[in-house]
This record gives sequence, structure tokens and C-alpha cells, in this order.
Amino acid sequence: MKLHEYQSKEVLARFGVPVPGGEVTSDPAEARAIAERLGGKVVVKAQVLMGGRGKAGGVKLFDDAEPAGAFGKELIGKRLVSIQNPTGMVVEKVLVAEQVDIAEEYYLSVLLDRAAAKLLVMISAKGGMDIEEVAATEPEAIARLHVDPAWGAAAWEIRDAVKKAKIPAKAQGQMVAMIQKLIRAYQEMDAELVEINPVAWTPEGKLLAADAKVSIDDNALFRHPAYAKTAEEGAEDAIEAEAARRGIAYVRLDGDIAIIGNGAGLVMCSMDEVKAAGGKPANFLDVGGGAGAERVKQCLELILMDDRAKGLLINIFGGITRCDEVAKGILAAYDTLDIKLPVVARIEGTAAEEGLRLLEGSKLIGASTMQEAARKIVDVAYKG
Ligand code: GDP
Ligand code: MN
Repeated sequence: MKLHEYQSKEVLARFGVPVPGGEVTSDPAEARAIAERLGGKVVVKAQVLMGGRGKAGGVKLFDDAEPAGAFGKELIGKRLVSIQNPTGMVVEKVLVAEQVDIAEEYYLSVLLDRAAAKLLVMISAKGGMDIEEVAATEPEAIARLHVDPAWGAAAWEIRDAVKKAKIPAKAQGQMVAMIQKLIRAYQEMDAELVEINPVAWTPEGKLLAADAKVSIDDNALFRHPAYAKTAEEGAEDAIEAEAARRGIAYVRLDGDIAIIGNGAGLVMCSMDEVKAAGGKPANFLDVGGGAGAERVKQCLELILMDDRAKGLLINIFGGITRCDEVAKGILAAYDTLDIKLPVVARIEGTAAEEGLRLLEGSKLIGASTMQEAARKIVDVAYKG
């Protein structure tokens, strides 16, 4: 999950990276007051999760609080469009920050190199808004340092990489210290990306993060509950957001045959079978291993929130999951919810006989194989 710039700066500051002071607001009337508190010489920045805000007109420098406030007011509620993001994003918050005097702009990031199974630190003396072009036309201007996640990086290795990146001698010491903090932040925050562009070098000889981008691995969000909450708020789809709150693995797709299965692999197979039978999956939903009746009912509730669904395929292969528990969940859902959708269920494995016995007399349509289930649901959903 991507964090906003102001959140990313909070994170980096906690790990000792120097960042300019500032305040964030979603209130158009408040931008000016913040600019006044900061002395008027500020930078006003749109807080949207997309790159290239500078070129898109979402970042502006001011000498006085009044025009800064007016620009902040104008930004909130506006749709910002950039080359990387042609559909654009609406600005909900602006960051008003102390304007840094920038003499030179450098680049710094830490990310994961999956193939090498190591962290990758990238450093360049040519930071700023054209870093993509630098990467494309003069890749040698970006120094790369692999870091073993268990061993970390020795100070001399980092110093060596900083020199290779042609960071001027005056800034090298602070740069090495910043990289060490960034690596710690990356590991302790379970990040998948930490980027500072530009790293600002001031005429007074101080290095600070004028911009920041932190992205946290979704699978580790439970370890960072403060940010998990923003993930729900940031989710574009209401059903996906509700699924995240319930801790259910759900992805909304654009078809109309809803699918519930246990185990990601089985759910994906079910999606393939629905497609092979001529249908279009409406979602991916994995009830998870060992799901009890209550969880199955919660999953069915999610499915019913999707008004495009014309039919539901339930595909359970009981291992740790007991089929009688699944059946109880389905029956509880039928008891309390108004289920008009045709439902085809293929239930096999642990306690399948008990499960099927429980379901006798219900409105469920049974199937003995996954393929048969897929054909039946596509049939009734589209013809019935
Ligand atoms: P991005 O375009 O989305 O990456 O947004 P940035 O926060 O990086 O801002 C774009 C550009 O504005 C930077 O590359 C800087 O050149 C400039 N900028 C941003 N903040 C400041 C600041 O505090 N002082 C000065 N002088 N320039 C800044
Ligand atoms: Mn930037």
C-alpha cells in the first residue's frame, strides 16, 4: 500500500531522516493559516498517490502566506492529471511545508530485487523531476548497491556506492547516514519501496528529504495497524474495502458469476472453469483454510453486496475446512439474508456427506465436479 508524502515523511522522520516541517489539511480555508504559521515561505503540495505532481502543477513555491493559501484552496477538490496518470486523481489533502533552499538535488531509493533476493539501494547525483529520463538515457548515473537482508550493509560499502553515484564529497557523509536510516526504515516498516526524490542539499550544507514515497507490503499491513486503516479508506471499491475490514481475501472483477472457494489455487481454477463454460467471473474470494460457519456467512454477505452478480458458484474441497461447517454457514446465510441468486455448490472432502445431508431440501443446486458446477451455474445464470 502506498502512503501519501506526508505520511511517508512521518515514517522517515521517526527513523531520523531530516525532513522539512509542515502540516497537512483537507480544509481549503486552513492552508493559509498553516502557511502563516510557517512564516510564509512555503511549498504547497497536492497529496495524491501519483508521481510527477510537480510537472502536473500540483507543487508550487511561495514567498507569502496569502497566495500559498489561495493555491491550497484551489488544489483541494481539483483533479490532477499527469503523464503517468492520464485519468488523474482528485486532491483531498494538501501539504503545506517549509520551503527548502535547494542548491543541488540527489536521488535515493531502496526497493526489493526479487531475482537477487536482496534489497537494492539506488543512488544518483542527478535527482529531481527528470530521474526517469536519467534512468533511461544514462543508467550509469545511478549507482546500485545490493544489500543482504540478514547481514545488512557495511558503512564502507555504502560509502563506496555514494562515491560511484558521484555525490559531491561535501555531502557524502550525510548521504551515507541517510542511506543507513533508509535501510532500517525499509526493513522495520516491511516496505516494498522507500524513495526520496529529491534529496535536497541546501546552501548551508544540510541534506534533507524534500519529497518522500513509502509503500508498505500489503501482506504486512497487520503489523502496521495505523496505516492499515488508511488502506481501507483508500480502497476504491466499497466491497473490497468491506472485505479488507473483515480480513477476507476478495478481489472484484468485471464479470457476473460470483465465486467462493477455499484456497487461492482452487478459486483460480474455478474462475478458469467458469470462463471455459462461457461465463465471466465477478470476483475472486477465498474463504481461507479451516473456515467456520460464521466466516462462510460473512463471505456470502460480501457476494450479495455485488448487484451485478447473476449467479454464485461455491467450490469447496474440504481438507482442514470441514464441509459440514461450510453447509451450516450457507444455511445461516439463507436464513438471515434474502438470497435470490441461483447458487450451485460443489462440496467434497472432509465431512462432505454430513455437509450435503444438511443442505438437502435447500435451494442449492448440487454438482459433483468443478466442471459440472461451472457449466450449471453459467446455464442457470444466463438462461434462467
Ligand atoms: P513530484 O513531482 O510528485 O515528485 O513532487 P516533488 O515533491 O518532488 O516536487 C517536485 C519538484 O518541486 C522537486 O523536484 C523540486 O525541484 C521542487 N520542490 C519541491 N519542494 C521544494 C522545496 O521545498 N524547495 C524548492 N526549492 N523546491 C522544491
Ligand atoms: Mn518527487
